Amino acid sequence: MDYDQLFRTQLDALKSDGNYRVFAELERHRGAYPRAKNHGAGADEVTVWCGNDYLGMGQHPEVIAAMHAAIDQCGAGAGGTRNISGTNHSHVLLERELADLHGKDGALLFTSGYVSNWAALGTLGARLPGCTILSDAFNHASMIEGIRHARCEKRIWAHNDPRDLERKLADLDPDAPKVVAFESVYSMDGDIAPIGEILDVAEQFGAMTYLDEVHAVGLYGKRGGGIAEREGLSDRVTLIEGTLGKAFGVVGGYITGSVELVDFIRSFASGFIFTTALPPAVAAGAVASIQTLKGEEGVALRTRQQRQVARLRAALDRAGIPHLDNPSHIVPVMVKDPVKCKMLADILMQDHGIYVQPINYPTVPKGTERLRFTPSPLHDDSDIDALVTALHALWSQCALARAAA
Ligand code: PMP
Repeated sequence: MDYDQLFRTQLDALKSDGNYRVFAELERHRGAYPRAKNHGAGADEVTVWCGNDYLGMGQHPEVIAAMHAAIDQCGAGAGGTRNISGTNHSHVLLERELADLHGKDGALLFTSGYVSNWAALGTLGARLPGCTILSDAFNHASMIEGIRHARCEKRIWAHNDPRDLERKLADLDPDAPKVVAFESVYSMDGDIAPIGEILDVAEQFGAMTYLDEVHAVGLYGKRGGGIAEREGLSDRVTLIEGTLGKAFGVVGGYITGSVELVDFIRSFASGFIFTTALPPAVAAGAVASIQTLKGEEGVALRTRQQRQVARLRAALDRAGIPHLDNPSHIVPVMVKDPVKCKMLADILMQDHGIYVQPINYPTVPKGTERLRFTPSPLHDDSDIDALVTALHALWSQCALARAAA
């Protein structure tokens, strides 16, 4: 059997559909974000416009100093799984910091946000007898995989639609456990869930709520606790899940909730039990990042980011470039064609030193291909002007429809 041929056949199919993924090969430099060196095709120096290091915390001096100090003190790796010699003091401090961030009694770390969703939803669905998970139609792949892994009953409710959720809940056994799983900020459209209404419905039917705040933690709320904090709803959400890899600039994932809930996941989730703990330096860097974003500097960074987001949106409007109108920091420019989307991204990279990854199917539905821009507080006004000037010129060149300006 020629296995490589089997692999090639499927890869070729991806390529001919325009869905084959090619990465930019960046070299990030300390203190330089959003600038980076590019080792791949295109310009040698680029401005990164699609980063998820939303506030530049991955290069923040205090985060870097905390990581250096922890490496000097503790070495490189954690030394084991959390249960077998791998729990370091810094993991416990970080879990306390995370519980405090969300106003919960407990928190549990995972090696990524993906793993936290997969492990936590998989465990809840599998271990709660007769459980049904009710999942928003646009939930992230990690939640979908977690629900699959649980092999429990599931219902998909229409995106951000509490009335559809209500109908689905009304059909279920009132005495059986139910988990309503959804996100706050959706990563590709940048829209925000009506959390309060969803909680009202879930509470009416005795369902627990599972909220992914991966694209909101660090960015919203007085202390960066996410949309639930901003709306004063954290208390009512049973489980809040987040990442340390986006606004906090490091890597790792977590859940927060009651002591019993966290102990339950800790005790049964294979994705927690059977894998090496995060390096202590990562945990120390995350603590520094969260503490910074809880304070005044966090407020200033969030304010400046929102300003740059508004500025980019206004400039796109003036140039007649269509973008999704949403209330978040995610600015999707709609190209609606996979080939043109990739072509635009290639030219931006090649001729303008602007790096934005084209977002095509299956990440988004066919016909909604887009360039997803994520302004940070470190993008200055001239970066925004350069981006919109380049897009404006290319828009006609690629024969794309303009928005009614
Ligand atoms: N949830 C959502 C909504 C996400 O978009 C992502 C990553 N893009 C994750 C979870 C996974 O987080 P991480 O990158 O930390 O694995």
